[in-house]
Amino acid sequence: MTHEQTRAVASHPPHRIVLLGHPVAHSLSPIFQNAALRHLHRSERYEILDVAPAFLGETLARLAIEQCGGNVTVPHKEAVAARAHCTPLAKRVGAVNTFWHEDGALVGHNTDVVGVMRAIREICPGGIAGAACAVLGAGGSAAGILVALEMLEAGAIRVAARSPSRAHALSERVGVPAQICENTHEAIDGAMFVINATPMGLHDDALPVDPALLAPQAAVLDLVYRRGETAWIRACREAGHRSADGVHMLLEQGAAAFECWFDVPAPRAVMWAALRQALG
Ligand code: NAP
Repeated sequence: MTHEQTRAVASHPPHRIVLLGHPVAHSLSPIFQNAALRHLHRSERYEILDVAPAFLGETLARLAIEQCGGNVTVPHKEAVAARAHCTPLAKRVGAVNTFWHEDGALVGHNTDVVGVMRAIREICPGGIAGAACAVLGAGGSAAGILVALEMLEAGAIRVAARSPSRAHALSERVGVPAQICENTHEAIDGAMFVINATPMGLHDDALPVDPALLAPQAAVLDLVYRRGETAWIRACREAGHRSADGVHMLLEQGAAAFECWFDVPAPRAVMWAALRQALG
């Protein structure tokens, strides 16, 4: 997979921009996407559409007539991938988070991969080529993470999952070899980069890994974000590890989606300011 394949552009800007999810009211995407649209004096607004799975088909049919574009979040990413003409990257990941229409046909792309890659580069500006990496969790976002790690030429990859069969299937499906571990300690042993792709720490102060068990030079990325830092990121930072929560990935996948719809550089500084204000 080449870096070129992380980029795809609509031939005409969508007439309307929506976020499909269920539930989705909590999303921060409208805050920074609307800040970007206003900044560029565009008339479109980024709207939330809460769509129960049973209504996804009829909603997509309506959005095609309106030449709509947008983002897709849980639980629709895989279902939209199954219905769309996917870009090679979205096909490989098996999930669509960004879509638009071309001649009435639904086009699905994935900007989560580039979002993770940019979040990793933010923490490790020198890159992670050859570095042993550990991924905690084998759910929807882990597929994009494995592809991102491959594109960044990471070294050995271990995946810690409480459902090893799910992790084996994931690694096989995306074609990224990984050692599957039932035990988190085994996965992080010697890892120089550790990513939390479980929801641990989203609603409480649970730590996916005790920072004392990390390799001294390990850097960490928490996909989870919330108002203020996650407890894990705070603990890792206090223990001297380079670390970041999921906000950077959130913004970068959104900025990349904006560039797919409008083929102009996303006004990242404006988007960041809106997001930081929302997160306090
Ligand atoms: P998902 O599809 O539900 O997968 C979650 C994974 O974590 C599964 O492997 C699950 O194991 C495992 N898991 C769940 N609870 C656990 C626990 N208490 N202990 C250990 N493992 C546990 O979720 P996802 O879509 O991959 O998202 C994961 C997290 O990343 C979510 O919190 C989400 O908010 C965050 N996220 C952030 C961004 C961003 O832009 N920053 C983007 C996507 C996702 P089982 O298979 O055994 O259930």
